[in-house]
Amino acid sequence: MRHYPGTTTLGFEEPLIFDYQKTGVSGASLPELQVPAANPSESLPAALIRTEAAALPELSESETVRHFTRLSTWNYSVDLGFYPLGSCTMKYNPKVNEWAARLPRAARMHPYAPVAAVQPAIEITYEVEQMLAEVSGMAEVSVQPSAGAHGELAAMMMIRKALKQRGNPRKKVLIPDTAHGTNPATSALNGYAVESIATGADGLIDLASVAEKMNEDVAALMLTNPNTLGLFEQNIKAVCDIVHERGGFVFGDGANLNAIMGRGRPGDFGIDAMQFNLHKTMSTPHGGGGPGAGPVGVCAELVPFLPGPRPTRQADGQIVLQSDLPLSIGRVRTFMGNFGVVLRTWVYLREMGAKGLQHASDMAVLNANYLARLIADHYHIPYGDGRCMHEVVASDRTLADTGVTTLDVAKALIDRGFHPPTVYFPLVVKGALMIEPTETESRETIETFAASLNEIAELAKTDPDALRAAPTRTHRRRFDEALAARKPVLIAE
Ligand SMILES: *Cc1c(COP(=O)(O)O)cnc(C)c1O
Repeated sequence: MRHYPGTTTLGFEEPLIFDYQKTGVSGASLPELQVPAANPSESLPAALIRTEAAALPELSESETVRHFTRLSTWNYSVDLGFYPLGSCTMKYNPKVNEWAARLPRAARMHPYAPVAAVQPAIEITYEVEQMLAEVSGMAEVSVQPSAGAHGELAAMMMIRKALKQRGNPRKKVLIPDTAHGTNPATSALNGYAVESIATGADGLIDLASVAEKMNEDVAALMLTNPNTLGLFEQNIKAVCDIVHERGGFVFGDGANLNAIMGRGRPGDFGIDAMQFNLHKTMSTPHGGGGPGAGPVGVCAELVPFLPGPRPTRQADGQIVLQSDLPLSIGRVRTFMGNFGVVLRTWVYLREMGAKGLQHASDMAVLNANYLARLIADHYHIPYGDGRCMHEVVASDRTLADTGVTTLDVAKALIDRGFHPPTVYFPLVVKGALMIEPTETESRETIETFAASLNEIAELAKTDPDALRAAPTRTHRRRFDEALAARKPVLIAE
């Protein structure tokens, strides 16, 4: 029988670690103290001293390891199988990057170590900033922000400050209706009102709407390119020209850089500020809540506003942290950013080289187009005439008569061993299935996935109930989401 990653037919239940009823067992075996035990009442206020032991589970080391190892097999990951979560770019990450990030000299570096003692780390940070500037065509980059959303926030803070500096603060930000929710959130956090721009019938930003809405009140336009429909914004240059002529900035959401790196540079299109999602594009595992990194890149005018301190190369070759930055928006996080992610990026970029990055983009686009072609007879692909960049957005419209929806398709894919794609996003496509195969998947994987999607579409016609019952091979079956939201049961009975 085929192995379905993340699923099981064994039917084992794993108790909560607190349900292992034992006392007096310990996972650690330390020798007896040879010095007097510390007396907490000498160093802590009485109110903070425990009177009873903490209710921690008591297990031996092997029981603890087995409990967590068993639980880990319940998780789906890119190391187990295909993970085509659109927009999230769940690509396979070469293990050599993990090796580098875990080298003790990197992993155990102390964040308060003096700059002179950690020159290699500062140098790597500096070089990643240089390399990202080269890849994107931006004047300078800071790796300080911790996520894409954080890089967006930093960029909009810089834009706001630059406009204030020009003596021309503004009130609004224009954002297409296909945008990721972080774009309007970022604008709102900067005190801007958001005005939505409709997507044209071709799936691209409507140039006439941009011309109509861009005025002296608008601070910036935020644009994702390729956009979340997986289409390249062909009019990007014209959009930037309109915004610039009327005194605004263009922010480029760089989450989809993996479709164009080595082929086109946002800086050359006219983008003034952008974020990079290193955990998506530059090979860092994500999906478990981090850590990530969302460097921010800017055009020359915005350079003085970059977060500080800035790694800067001196005449003697030493790299110092420059803090004398009068216009900087300041720190956006502690220390120098998520160094582990930055280090993985450095290894990735050195490993790939310019040609490798170009090849990665080409393969990401080829794979998505191949997948689009394979499923086009069974699913509706509303935009792009069947062509796309790095991801394809399909919909459940062809299944309308069967009563089977995108949610059922997603759950049925789990039974077939796949992580579902992103569903019901972007919002402009009803019943959207947003599929991003990434460049790291083989032709066989893409064909097997497409065959499963097509088999599900066939099954929708003959046995729709089977799909509505899915998933049936997982540790947990389909939740009643409405009930879970209204009457959540948050502890085990
Ligand atoms: C993922 C994503 C973001 C947000 O990035 P995070 O790193 O998750 O904060 C923004 N825009 C787009 C288009 C994305 O796909």
